[in-house]
Amino acid sequence: MAKEDKQFVTEITSQSEDFSRWYIDVIKKADLMDYSPVRGCIVFKPDGYEIWEHIQQDLDRRFKETGHRNAYFPLFIPESFFQKEKDHVEGFNPELPWVTEAAGEKLEERLAIRPTSETMIGHMYERWIQSYRDLPVLINQWANVVRWEKRTLPFLRTSEFLWQEGHTAHENEAEAREETMKILDIYRDFVENFLAIPVIVGQKTPSEKFAGALDTFSIEAMMKDGRAVQAGTSHYLGTNFAKAFDIKYLNRENVQEFVHTTSWGVSTRLIGALIMVHGDDRGLALPPKVAPKQVMIIPIGPPKTRDEVVGRADELFAQLKKAGIRVGIDDRADVRPGWKFNEYEMRGIPVRLEIGPRDMENGVCVLVSRISGEKKVVQQDQLVEEVTAMLDQVQQEMYDRALAFRESHFYSVDTLDEMKANIEEQRGFTLAGWCGSEACEDAVKQETGATSRNIPFDPQVEKELCLVCGQKANHTVVFARAY
Ligand code: AMP
Repeated sequence: MAKEDKQFVTEITSQSEDFSRWYIDVIKKADLMDYSPVRGCIVFKPDGYEIWEHIQQDLDRRFKETGHRNAYFPLFIPESFFQKEKDHVEGFNPELPWVTEAAGEKLEERLAIRPTSETMIGHMYERWIQSYRDLPVLINQWANVVRWEKRTLPFLRTSEFLWQEGHTAHENEAEAREETMKILDIYRDFVENFLAIPVIVGQKTPSEKFAGALDTFSIEAMMKDGRAVQAGTSHYLGTNFAKAFDIKYLNRENVQEFVHTTSWGVSTRLIGALIMVHGDDRGLALPPKVAPKQVMIIPIGPPKTRDEVVGRADELFAQLKKAGIRVGIDDRADVRPGWKFNEYEMRGIPVRLEIGPRDMENGVCVLVSRISGEKKVVQQDQLVEEVTAMLDQVQQEMYDRALAFRESHFYSVDTLDEMKANIEEQRGFTLAGWCGSEACEDAVKQETGATSRNIPFDPQVEKELCLVCGQKANHTVVFARAY
């Protein structure tokens, strides 16, 4: 390896040496973000932001296909709104930043910067909903929110983050619960098929649920260090917010009733999960569906054939672009191909296309998969089909690898001692029985640092006894250390 290449590679700490440093090295080297001067707040640089844009586009389409529409509500929430729902205020108060003065004058009522918009939206829905004819209300908002987090980590946990928050109101519990599950399944399908991240779908335990929710459901993903990331949540709020904000409607029998509401969100945390699930010691690895550039063309060969090769590469570029493939070309003459190969691998571009003078003569070019390193010589006149097939293959392979990793880091225990004994060397998710008491759940946290992730809908095995107290298990729970 040339000196330049070596230096380049060693700038990324290896995952096995220090996973946290690897993560920071990768996001900085791949130019996804930068730290801002404000504590816990990051700058999304164009490559990082474009990942978010692809996430937005695909999710937005799914929301609209299921009848939701976008709206926008204010960033500021009057303090009195938070006092209306007891659990909500208790849950969010410690993380709220307040605006106390503006234009040089003290405000009559402090304004919180929204951590989530149930209260503001509850206030508005009270005005908009009068009769069953006004229901359901199916609204989503794309926005930034602020939660003054003590511990922050780029993308995964920031003080300001970008997200979508859906807020719906329904005539009855059954409809609202159906909506909660429908969204959870949209999240599952999106994260698995678009981001190539397998998830565990289930219900949060009461201590982990959203402040103000009756039931919280989540999808949980496993990172390459075995830790969990909550990748999305969907909440059934019952009539809690309807009562707090007096959202009543005249039902079909002409009787006043409270609406049943839901809320649900995914955030820029998903970008962090993408990086930690798919990245490796060479850097970022992005699933084709979400990658800002899916293919990078690199012309190779000696100076004397350069113009001709670059000319052909430009034609291939145009073909792929026309077919809707996100393609780039790096024809810089003063940078060696080997350096470029490393650079775009590090940036996670799913497929590299190489073309040199001999390929020109034979009417072929070479496709290289970022994830497996597989090289495939393909006919130029079938380029679009070949590239599309390789992108599909890379997408599937990334999912399969992530699933295989998760399965090989999934443990099942019967006692807390067993869990304690294994937690250090067996990094991953642990399935165990739980009686349902907060004391037992807390004991797991104290003794192992792992928290309950969710009660999976499909745990594969049902546990008989609680891992802490040995009493009958009422639930089978996934525990893990989490980001
Ligand atoms: P919640 O409103 O608490 O249910 O969170 C909605 C979504 O935002 C979930 O997918 C969370 O994992 C995610 N989320 C919560 N806090 C943060 C944070 N500080 N930074 C990034 N994402 C977050």
